[in-house]
Amino acid sequence: MKRKQVIGNWKMNGDLAANRRLLDELLPSLAALDGVELAVCPPFPYLAQVAALLEGSGVALGAQNLNVAAKGAFTGEVSAGMLGELGCRYVLVGHSERRSLYGECDETVAEKFAVALRAGLVPVLCVGETLAQRRQGRTEALVSAQLQAVLRRSGIEGLAAGVIAYEPVWAIGSGETASPEQAQAVHRHIRDLLAQHDPARGAATPILYGGSVKADNAAALFAQPDIDGGLIGGASLEAAAFAAICQAAAR
Ligand code: PEP
Repeated sequence: MKRKQVIGNWKMNGDLAANRRLLDELLPSLAALDGVELAVCPPFPYLAQVAALLEGSGVALGAQNLNVAAKGAFTGEVSAGMLGELGCRYVLVGHSERRSLYGECDETVAEKFAVALRAGLVPVLCVGETLAQRRQGRTEALVSAQLQAVLRRSGIEGLAAGVIAYEPVWAIGSGETASPEQAQAVHRHIRDLLAQHDPARGAATPILYGGSVKADNAAALFAQPDIDGGLIGGASLEAAAFAAICQAAAR
């Protein structure tokens, strides 16, 4: 059986003292968990601190973004090689906040995905529709287009080497969660699309759900057949809540 995965996205939150407090409280409650892959994605300046705090815990490190260039005159940017050197295993690409606030289009996201893979990182490709797109009945077409951009560039082998996170934009940070049935329907659609290219890889690719996952709704979401875990924003900043979500995934 596929191991479930839970990845915490801290976004632009934390400080040296708060990061230490959070992990001091969180890591002991994760130590006994079996059959689940866990990671946290702190802001860039805290990657080294968090890498040291995670040592020996079995919890992996991830970053929230990368630049496609290896190095050079790109003020304020961070390369895949730098993330790898700091111990990152994962990197988020195409988070809806990057798409909406920083103008990242499907092609940019696909390039970041390919660059991350080439650097030996596991890209976590975020896809999802806005509320308006859902109301217009465009959810599946929109998610397909986001995936096709990556398939064109990296092929099914590439896409299947990463992780997909279905994150309906209307559910991110809003307190509103897709129902398990709504989420499952889109996860099934994603799985079917991958399977059209390669049934075995389609079945094996982890597809996480993200969007206001909390301790009290995680188990129902994770019980869906095509939901392989969660990408967690707000609740990943609270040790007890994140630990409960990880426990729900480990069941
Ligand atoms: C996210 O940022 O990826 C996310 C899912 O946030 P939240 O859990 O706060 O909705």
